[in-house]
Amino acid sequence: MEPLILDGKTLSKVIRKEVKQTISELPYEPTLAVVMVGEDPASAVYVRGKERDCKRVGIRSLKHTLPETATQKEVQSLLLDLNKNPEVDGILLQLPLPKHLDETALVRTISPEKDVDGFLPVNQGLVVLNEESALTPCTPAGIMELLKRHNITIAGREAVVIGRSMTVGKPIAMLLLNAHATCTVCHSKTASLQSHVARADLLVVAAGRRGVIDESWIKEGAVVVDVGIHRLEDGSLGGDLHFEAAAKRAAAITPVPGGVGPMTRTCLLLNTLKAARRRRTV
Ligand code: NAD
Repeated sequence: MEPLILDGKTLSKVIRKEVKQTISELPYEPTLAVVMVGEDPASAVYVRGKERDCKRVGIRSLKHTLPETATQKEVQSLLLDLNKNPEVDGILLQLPLPKHLDETALVRTISPEKDVDGFLPVNQGLVVLNEESALTPCTPAGIMELLKRHNITIAGREAVVIGRSMTVGKPIAMLLLNAHATCTVCHSKTASLQSHVARADLLVVAAGRRGVIDESWIKEGAVVVDVGIHRLEDGSLGGDLHFEAAAKRAAAITPVPGGVGPMTRTCLLLNTLKAARRRRTV
């Protein structure tokens, strides 16, 4: 049987419409400050995309570009100004930063209530505590939204996450646990990845390695979420999995592109709206 396609592109359009409607009823314009250091071409493309997304739903974006040679102090001082600026609801520091800068220290300069990427320890901690007030990292938040809006059952199911990064693997494992899945986190030192994958009713693959598993390991009827993004030899985009092979075994699966990616971008908008409403109490 053909699997259900967890179509993040279509769902994103629906959610963005909802966000736009909500914003149109607010007495203020939610505002996202985007900080870029240097002119990394890939980052510039991402930033342009985020600015476009904001504009379409009525979020004002303020772009601050510092030169590649900016010092730690200069970036820090800009972030501190944005923390203090009452007009700014969310701050996004585009990563990666140039090598001479201390990325962790700069991310941690951002106020937790403006941390729309959800990277700060406070927000990661609130996710662990299952607190509604968390600004949840965008990719895991997007995956949960994708699953919930497709009525995928999570409670009681065996979930396996491949990858333990702070931006994807760990928080998605926590969110699945909070939603009552029984969750296993696998990583590069996991012995017998196959035995874990074979048990998964819900498999989230976020290893950043194409071909990290053999798709024949996937349990028949599993729900499969592929987070990886890779530029393939023919110029197209693909995930950590070979879609056709994984789709043969899955009951539901995310495509790449058009699955987790658009949901991640949409969750940045949701986080900005959430941060704005909380700060401005409307
Ligand atoms: P990362 O490199 O920080 O983490 C990768 C994780 O995978 C690590 O924890 C590592 O232990 C694990 N891993 C690596 N090789 C493995 C192996 N052979 N077996 C088991 N585990 C292995 O990467 P990340 O930032 O978490 O991103 C993962 C992938 O998701 C990348 O391809 C990235 O481009 C993509 N990504 C996509 C989106 C999106 O919106 N679609 C967002 C973020 C990341």
